[in-house]
Amino acid sequence: MRWSQIFIPTLRDEPADAEAISHKLMLRAGLVRQLAAGVYSKLPLGLRASRKVEAIVREEMERIGGQEFHLPVLHPGELWKESGRWSQIGEEMFRLKDRRQGDYCLGMTHEEVFTAIARDELRSYRQLPQIWFQIQTKFRDEARPKSGVLRGREFVMKDSYTFDVDFAGLDIGFDKHAEAYRRIFERCGIKALSVQAASGAMGGSESVEFMSVSDAGEDWTVICPGCDAAANLEKAVTVAPEVVDPDAEALEKFPTPGIRTIDALAHFAGGAPAERQIKTLVYVVDDEPTLFLLRGDHELNEVKLAEATGTTTFRAATPEECQSALGARPGSLGAVSVSNIPIYADDALKGRVEMVTGANDDDHHFRHVSVERDLQDLRWVSLRNAVEGDGCAACGKEVSIKKTIELGHIFKLGLRYSESMNLTVLNDQGKDVPVVMGSYGIGIERLVAAVIEAYHDDNGIVWPWSIAPFHVVITPISLKDEAAVEKTEAIYDGLVAAGLETLLDDRNERPGVKFKDADLIGIPLRLVIGPKGLERGMVELVERGTSEKVDVPYGEAVEQVRARADRLASAAPR
Ligand code: ATP
Ligand code: MG
Repeated sequence: MRWSQIFIPTLRDEPADAEAISHKLMLRAGLVRQLAAGVYSKLPLGLRASRKVEAIVREEMERIGGQEFHLPVLHPGELWKESGRWSQIGEEMFRLKDRRQGDYCLGMTHEEVFTAIARDELRSYRQLPQIWFQIQTKFRDEARPKSGVLRGREFVMKDSYTFDVDFAGLDIGFDKHAEAYRRIFERCGIKALSVQAASGAMGGSESVEFMSVSDAGEDWTVICPGCDAAANLEKAVTVAPEVVDPDAEALEKFPTPGIRTIDALAHFAGGAPAERQIKTLVYVVDDEPTLFLLRGDHELNEVKLAEATGTTTFRAATPEECQSALGARPGSLGAVSVSNIPIYADDALKGRVEMVTGANDDDHHFRHVSVERDLQDLRWVSLRNAVEGDGCAACGKEVSIKKTIELGHIFKLGLRYSESMNLTVLNDQGKDVPVVMGSYGIGIERLVAAVIEAYHDDNGIVWPWSIAPFHVVITPISLKDEAAVEKTEAIYDGLVAAGLETLLDDRNERPGVKFKDADLIGIPLRLVIGPKGLERGMVELVERGTSEKVDVPYGEAVEQVRARADRLASAAPR
């Protein structure tokens, strides 16, 4: 392909409203343009990179027996009403009416449509298992579409669905997907952590997310270097470093005029540092006031609160509700001698003595609090967010907490859709049984962006070989020297014939401009061909990733590029 014939609108300057590096670079390198919030047009280079990812995904899905479908994006609302999700899902779903006032939506995922096909077509366990997949556009009216294609409102997903006669079959389909996903991310050059996750609106029980570490991520993941495990912040249970407390003394109430916060109490004469305080939070859980106790420097995680109480119906209590439950306003609350209210305490408070906490009397606190001596009927649970410095609950090694991008997600749906939508088959006993399902997704553009997050430098993108929109860019120094042009064309033909995707920068631009653009769009190898070099019989081969430059004999250029290609193609993932 000739640069003059492919549209690559590179930008010199940083786009003003882009934050994530991948977003900036996708705009600057001319991969995408924004049409509306969270809606992007792919330009030729962006499309080429996306197609590389899609091809890898398709190959790996076919390797595990996946069969490709292509389902509509326009879904009758009826199907979503059958599954119950028409009412379960809120504003994230794009809904519309047809001319007869019928309800429709734009598919945000395709469980319903695939289940409907399976229900109409599958009759017997003999037809199972099935792995069905597609690479199709999804629509989600995301609350905060930002970071470019990392979180679009229209985006492409590979989604797949497994259909099995029993749960043992589901486990096999699930494990096959986990393996396919590992291969996909590795082939895209990305190191992905697998994380046990909560499965949210999709229903089902077990689910695993595949995460790549990046500052552009929106999820926090707790990573243990010791056992190579990773967990969502919502799920991670870690051990706070041990605190050596002084000897316990007798409980004592003391005045703390105007002191209402952990921080103020930490700086108050006679107070205590945050890690020696007990934070008392009051929530209304299923209409009942309930106390949650944490160390002063720890943060409550509401997902853990929900898990501990077994309900999602809760909210923080108002100051008036605190007053009526405990007799004081927030800032002076505590659990000493409280007996008529359920009290959940975070594990990190276990065994602690000499703590400070509110006295349920405005402007008063207790000191010398021994948690297990002075607080009654505590329900011990993990309530807090893990923090840097905590130890892994399994091996004790210090964990790190990193921002991560969710690249893919695999769910064991179980009977969620087969039961609500009546998908059954005859089993080997001739009995009608609901089909056991799984669903599995990978965002295509999000994966492209995650690759850029992992592969860039100050000058632009540094594509891994497998995703690069082109493998080689040829940069002629002069278009005037006829002999040089002829030789350049010959090399170009040679590279193309060797199966290398080659971009010939035939633009009438200064070499400096061409070099900058080539760096920005990140093509792994560059061949610089100039009259001076050719006089010596040489062309220059430059590796984008390392900036390493070598002169290679003109006649060996194609061969040398091929040799580099093999090395680059087998580089380790990041
Ligand atoms: P997130 O928590 O980031 O919103 P999700 O849990 O809603 O993701 P799934 O419904 O599991 O995502 O979708 C499967 C995959 O589709 C995700 O792992 C991600 O790669 C991709 N994906 C989801 N939402 C978007 C989006 N708004 N833009 C781009 N890709 C997305
Ligand atoms: Mg989402």
